[in-house]
Amino acid sequence: MAEHESLEFGKADFVLLDNVSLEEFLANLKLRFEKGRIYSYIGEVVVSVNPYRAMNIYGRDTIEQYKGRELYERPPHLFAIADAAYKAMKRRNKDTCIVISGESGAGKTEASKYIMQYIAAITNPSQRAEVERVKNMLLKSNCVLEAFGNAKTNRNDNSSRFGKYMDINFDFKGDPIGGHINNYLLEKVGRVVHAREEQRMQGDESLLRSLHIQKDPTAYSYIKVGVTKTSVAMFFLSSLIYEEHCVLLQGNLKFGNDGDVTLIENSKLVAVLGELLSTKEENVEKALLYRTVATGRDVIDKQHTDQEASYGRDALAKAIYERLFCWIVGRINDIIEVKNYDARIHGKNTVIGVLDIYGFEIFQNNSFEQFCINYCNEKLQQLFIQLVLKQEQEEYQREGIPWKHIDYFNNQIIVDLVELQHKGIFSVLDEACMNVGKVTDEMFLQALNSKLAKHAHYTSRKLSPTDKSLEFDRDFRIRHYAGDVVYSVLGFIDKNKDTLFQDFKRLLYNSSNPVLKAMWPEGKLSITEVTKRPLTAATLFKNSMISLVENLASKEPYYVRCIKPNDVKSPLLFEYERCKHQVEYLGLLENVRVRRAGFANRQTYPRFLQRYKMISEFTWPNHDLPSDREAVKRLLQGCGFEHDVAYGKTKVFIRTPRTIFSLEEQRAEMV
Ligand code: ADP
Ligand code: MG
Repeated sequence: MAEHESLEFGKADFVLLDNVSLEEFLANLKLRFEKGRIYSYIGEVVVSVNPYRAMNIYGRDTIEQYKGRELYERPPHLFAIADAAYKAMKRRNKDTCIVISGESGAGKTEASKYIMQYIAAITNPSQRAEVERVKNMLLKSNCVLEAFGNAKTNRNDNSSRFGKYMDINFDFKGDPIGGHINNYLLEKVGRVVHAREEQRMQGDESLLRSLHIQKDPTAYSYIKVGVTKTSVAMFFLSSLIYEEHCVLLQGNLKFGNDGDVTLIENSKLVAVLGELLSTKEENVEKALLYRTVATGRDVIDKQHTDQEASYGRDALAKAIYERLFCWIVGRINDIIEVKNYDARIHGKNTVIGVLDIYGFEIFQNNSFEQFCINYCNEKLQQLFIQLVLKQEQEEYQREGIPWKHIDYFNNQIIVDLVELQHKGIFSVLDEACMNVGKVTDEMFLQALNSKLAKHAHYTSRKLSPTDKSLEFDRDFRIRHYAGDVVYSVLGFIDKNKDTLFQDFKRLLYNSSNPVLKAMWPEGKLSITEVTKRPLTAATLFKNSMISLVENLASKEPYYVRCIKPNDVKSPLLFEYERCKHQVEYLGLLENVRVRRAGFANRQTYPRFLQRYKMISEFTWPNHDLPSDREAVKRLLQGCGFEHDVAYGKTKVFIRTPRTIFSLEEQRAEMV
């Protein structure tokens, strides 16, 4: 048993469950949560339950306890896998990554912060000023992104509606010398357009006034984030408030019509927008009310209906928000990136990546966003399976140990269902969006039905009319590796298309503000030059997922799975059904199965003896057997663990952590 842990706190490692069942898993999780044990393992995977209270387990003393230790020597903790990832990077020269997933509010971002803090705390013992500077920048860049990327959603006061991947680069001494951030699918749809009353609005009064921002948040109909939450963000702030403000103001623009003519009702705002976007008022007005279309050789201005104008306005607000976010990420990267010059000086450059990304999402009503997020999780699960099993298999081959196959579900079939060229759901969607004329969501659904009627993981109301879970004609259902999710097809077409009228891109490209201009390079093209369709949201997302997974696949992975125990932020409440749902959708039982398929622990013979030789009369203080391998065999036979181990060429393989814990216990009694 890991030190300081006894069975009264439940099993520290879910691999040790007697039966791999949902009931047993949850009983153990609940027991541990109630005993204040928020971390557990599935092999080397950390399972975390949000405590919703300050825990006294992140201080300097705790850091010292985990520093340089093996995973099983201490109770489960984020610090243990942060240390494992760091050790692998430093000692074995491996790039590593830590994948943190879970639903909104489950504690992913907090976990990533603790991991970064741990790494910051254990590095740079010689206090080199340059390294300290880099460390501070890395930690602060997180705050800036959080401040801007977080919306107050109904699930979480401070939820990051984007996936974030951060590389930390290390030099040959194992000290941080820089980093790089990638962001994924900022959920612009939810964040900009749907208004909330509890908007936050703080900031320097005079600055806000000069930008025509009213202090009363209800004056705006788009959601507002806590822009000035953090003082370190000041560097970015002027441009940031400035742009966000436009997003806010646009929400107040209303359109009406006077007979055949569409009008802007509160036309004073147009002047303000013109000022803020550094472009002429009349150009703003024109872009809001008309779009330029090329018909053969002629170019004409076609007036929007008031509906189209509102639609265009919302698309513009979303696009400004999204591009600004990407721009900020780009500026942060400029600052934290390892410069070529530094790399030459520092020599070897290894990386630890930290991925903070939403887990499976299933709501009352699931749409395109959930579909993308859940596809992302299928990809990550596939990677998990491949890496765990592939790594294991390769090592067993090297060591000459027979591979025993244990059943688990391989989800490649679902990944294919979504992303396969020509046949996958994304392809069908893109094809539908490419059709000229009005394409409806219903037509897309029909196309899915005809292409995928026989697919074991796809069905719809049309294909299964008696199925109770498919309530509406617009519903289709995917059998994900973690369970069934019903999606509503409504909105798929619109959300997939780049809905921003070219006129807005040109408007902003022609802004006299160089930052705005730089954000809209495609606005350079005139209407007759625009030939290529912009990539769809699905294609962009798919491409970014494929490169994310490629990147992760080149690294040694560590995992953190976060669970949110209740929806009321209570430190006491373990809502059984909510947790069960998450255990299912995070695929934790599959994790246990995949982990059990291999050996929990392996050590070279000399290292094993060094640690455990005191527990056997055959090996203490020295053995006289012909080899260390023979000595380890003798020791383990003596303890009765023969059935749980295998002997490779250079290493002993131990199947269950229970055996390791027991060896540790015996060792503790001797020393
Ligand atoms: P996510 O990033 O998964 O949406 P967060 O990491 O932002 O969730 O966590 C949501 C909230 O839960 C935090 O603001 C904090 O109040 C609480 N919380 C999460 N993890 C911890 C922790 N380890 N200790 C104490 N509180 C936590
Ligand atoms: Mg977060």
